[in-house]
Amino acid sequence: MKRTFLYILTALIAVGCKNSSVQNNKSDDDKPVITVTIEPLRYFTEAIAGDNFSIVSMVPKGSSPEMYDPTPQQLVELAKSKAYFRIGYIGFEQTWMDKLTDNAPHLQFFDTSRGIDLIFDSSHAHHHHGDDEAHAHDSIQHDEHQHAVGVEPHVWSSAYNAQIIAGNILNALCSIDKANEEVYVERYKNLCNQIEHTDSLICHMLSTPNADRAFMIYHPALSYFARDYGLHQISIEEDGKEPSPSHLKSLIDTCKKEKVRVIFVQPEFDRRNAEIIAKQTGTKVVPINPLSYDWEQEMLNIARELVVKN
Ligand SMILES: [Zn+2]
Repeated sequence: MKRTFLYILTALIAVGCKNSSVQNNKSDDDKPVITVTIEPLRYFTEAIAGDNFSIVSMVPKGSSPEMYDPTPQQLVELAKSKAYFRIGYIGFEQTWMDKLTDNAPHLQFFDTSRGIDLIFDSSHAHHHHGDDEAHAHDSIQHDEHQHAVGVEPHVWSSAYNAQIIAGNILNALCSIDKANEEVYVERYKNLCNQIEHTDSLICHMLSTPNADRAFMIYHPALSYFARDYGLHQISIEEDGKEPSPSHLKSLIDTCKKEKVRVIFVQPEFDRRNAEIIAKQTGTKVVPINPLSYDWEQEMLNIARELVVKN
């Protein structure tokens, strides 16, 4: 399947190159395109790039960025992009980035996670189950990659990391489009102010006596968030798989011991296990979406849920 995509991609790049010299006098939205991996990265990039580029996410809303395979159409679009910004270590990138680089040599690739203090976690296997059975043939490959790397990939759910990501985006944009450097620097500063503001709101919320110190989550997408604010993230998933009955039982004990009140679930994942635990412990299942474009809103929502309302 993938091999077919690559042939298509190679063929299209060849065609694309021939066309590009002619394309200059065409007026169909001449804005150069930057492709990014996920929606939160599109948010950060748009905030700094403004109207100078059109920013496209590779992984569409509702798809898991660990399992996603690009469509042939997306590969065509990618070949027309000016640059690719990756978020760092997410499964899609582990599986696809080498192929994308090989097949689009004119594309400039930037890793926006550069300089982030990474969490290494060999148990974070990230193989997804359930609805994605169609991708079963891929999961073996995905697993190998993720085990080899062992980096906790959800770097964007952290205000601290977001500033580093923003800095990397700024540098990338300046190297692509030096002429507009001042504009990008200005927008970068605004974005950083906003991120800092969000961070201070979260700090304030989580420092009240009513705030939880631990939370449960199906898929551990808030590792960096938990590190930033000194919280304990308890993952229901066990090595990327559904919890065994004995693990489920120990989770219920942990829940009581750590006074967990909230169990987060994400749209791409199972919520049945979360509901079983919630029922037995009187905790609350709360849907969140760390892959939302509205990064600030989402970060604030998550924090808000961890504060007891009187
Ligand atoms: Zn994940």
